[in-house]
Amino acid sequence: MRHIIEALQKLSRNLWWSWDTEAKELFKELSPLIWERVNHNPVELLHHISQDELKARLDCEFGKKLENVTKRFEAYLAEKDTWASKHAPSLTEKTVAYFSAEFGIHESVRIYSGGLGVLSGDHIKSASDLGLNLVGITLFYKEGYFRQCLNQEGWQLEDYPLQYPESLPLEKVTDSDGKDLIISVNIAQSEVFAQAWYLNVGRAKLYLLDTNIPANESHYRDICSRVYGGDQNMRINQEIVLGIGGVKLLKALGIDTAVYHMNEGHSAFLTVELLAEQLEKGLEPEEAKELVKEQCVFTTHTPVAAGHDRFSRDMIRYTFDKYLQNNGIAFDDFMKLGSEDPSNLHGLFTMTVLALNLSRSANGVSKLHGQVSREMWQHIFSAESPEQVPIGHITNGVHTSSWSSGFTEKFWRRYSDSLDTLTSTPEEASKILAKVSDEELWCLRYHLKRSLIDFIYRYLSNQLFHQHVYATYMEMDSSKSSKNPLSPDVLTIGFARRFATYKRAPLIFSDIDRLTRIVNHPTMPAQIIFAGKAHPHDDAGKHYIQQIVEHTRLPQFKGKIIFLENYNLGVAKRMISGVDVWLNNPVRPMEASGTSGQKTVLHGGLNFSIPDGWWPEAYNGENGWSIGDGEQFDNPDEQNRHDAEKLYDVLENQIIPTFYNRNVDNIPVKWLKKVREAIVTIGPVYNTHRMVKDYTLQYYLKN
Ligand SMILES: *Cc1c(COP(=O)(O)O)cnc(C)c1O
Repeated sequence: MRHIIEALQKLSRNLWWSWDTEAKELFKELSPLIWERVNHNPVELLHHISQDELKARLDCEFGKKLENVTKRFEAYLAEKDTWASKHAPSLTEKTVAYFSAEFGIHESVRIYSGGLGVLSGDHIKSASDLGLNLVGITLFYKEGYFRQCLNQEGWQLEDYPLQYPESLPLEKVTDSDGKDLIISVNIAQSEVFAQAWYLNVGRAKLYLLDTNIPANESHYRDICSRVYGGDQNMRINQEIVLGIGGVKLLKALGIDTAVYHMNEGHSAFLTVELLAEQLEKGLEPEEAKELVKEQCVFTTHTPVAAGHDRFSRDMIRYTFDKYLQNNGIAFDDFMKLGSEDPSNLHGLFTMTVLALNLSRSANGVSKLHGQVSREMWQHIFSAESPEQVPIGHITNGVHTSSWSSGFTEKFWRRYSDSLDTLTSTPEEASKILAKVSDEELWCLRYHLKRSLIDFIYRYLSNQLFHQHVYATYMEMDSSKSSKNPLSPDVLTIGFARRFATYKRAPLIFSDIDRLTRIVNHPTMPAQIIFAGKAHPHDDAGKHYIQQIVEHTRLPQFKGKIIFLENYNLGVAKRMISGVDVWLNNPVRPMEASGTSGQKTVLHGGLNFSIPDGWWPEAYNGENGWSIGDGEQFDNPDEQNRHDAEKLYDVLENQIIPTFYNRNVDNIPVKWLKKVREAIVTIGPVYNTHRMVKDYTLQYYLKN
């Protein structure tokens, strides 16, 4: 019996459980109520359950289920015959070190803010599934990213609940004597110390540096407080701990690193530490630089200028003074590595430029973004044309099992041995889909939409500014009034992501009268669910939220257009599985890739998007809808008017009529044809298994 209890503990301390349906169900079964209250955190859940209760429960059905899950878990950990063992055997020995300022692995581990983190989390999970020897490097933020709550005026408020290591599956990194392993970095004139944790993510490990220890002065302890928190000074300090500290940690751990992957420029200072290592060996600077380049690859993630970190010369001098002296690097030589114009070293130091200068390959995250990045950074390479710029692309994907609801995963397992088979090739997907009837697909859709709506009403009861909607719903429930709040019979549109202004969340409200007619159509209505956080410093984004919340209160939209607060991985999972249509309307070409739309596909959701990011590659005319053909205008108002017009046009004339076009059994056959087309064409391509294989074959393995 004791070993079974230990097995449960062990399972709770490896995030593998978070992408295994039966493992998740086990924890939930222990206490559905506590499971919700602890934000689906099994470590904390087990704190609430006594040994006596566990022991008693293991004696019935629960014990058998646990045994099955444990067997699969152990087999997963022990598996030797993996994709990497066949296609990248050298990378089952040597290590890929994957650096990212955020990782979105599960809602209970709050060390992410948005899409970049979700991508990193999905990357490390796929690396584990494929048997690649990859470690992640990031920071442990004790306050994480903020929790969003909206006041009665619909204005975003932020609070920062602490997360405690003892409530998370964090393991302390220790040295050979069993003492905490401590590394240090130079910041300004000080030595700043960091301890390290790791999280087990399947077979992979994610290391987290943490400066919140007594050895540091309090302002250095705060480096590891908040994801993207504080000012420029805080930002550069975080990036030093991540990049330079990360390399030192790998060295202290004795990890034999084959390649350093910088996921976005935040970690680019790692190149400087690698350079210092080479210089210390006595190499000439040029030679040292070449050796560093050989070891590094870089992924850039945004065409938005403000998305690239830039630091003033003064700040660089102040912060790096001692470090550069210690390592014999001349200040101007250092500035040159990060300057867009090497003939003027008085400008800004750009992290993307540093990364581009010191990596052997670089890539954008969709075909279009690759092209935009080549234009954007042409001057760095003194290239004559964008085609000559050595920036390629690998389009982002999502980790299929993490993004499939338990119900969906079980649904597909009735027809296929696993989700990985369903998403292996279009041919395989077609074969599997041929076994599924329209009635069954439609049943899946109804089930998922109903659970989203149930979730929304439970969620709204805690949400202050929407309590009127909740109250109306409860009233209706008892009076059986003819009015119709959220209903699974109604076409349901979802929009959720960070509220960066280029994503234009309020675009669909451009013409209120038209939207009123669409939402309240007597026979073909629509309902819309919104969610998303604005960065704490982004007042324009917060105004967008407020605007939408005000619209949700208009009588014609009440109960039909909803804003859910505190968007996170948990809310995302609910939304992407429940909605019929996932809306995405950024200003082209500002969305480097976007991934949220990819998450809806296996649930039978369809994408409706500006042809930006991944969508122009994936859209084939039959597997969703495009908002316009990518027309670009210099005048933003003109752009908005044009895109809004196209949005309404496609919604009214294509999406809504297709959804409500039913056969004699009330099944939307044409709609489901599109759903099938999306599953076949999108599922097998826009997933992180394909993506990590591409990174491995194109970039990690040195050709
Ligand atoms: C997937 C996801 C994102 C990314 O959404 P995009 O539409 O690709 O920007 C952001 N936040 C959360 C919580 C997500 O799950």
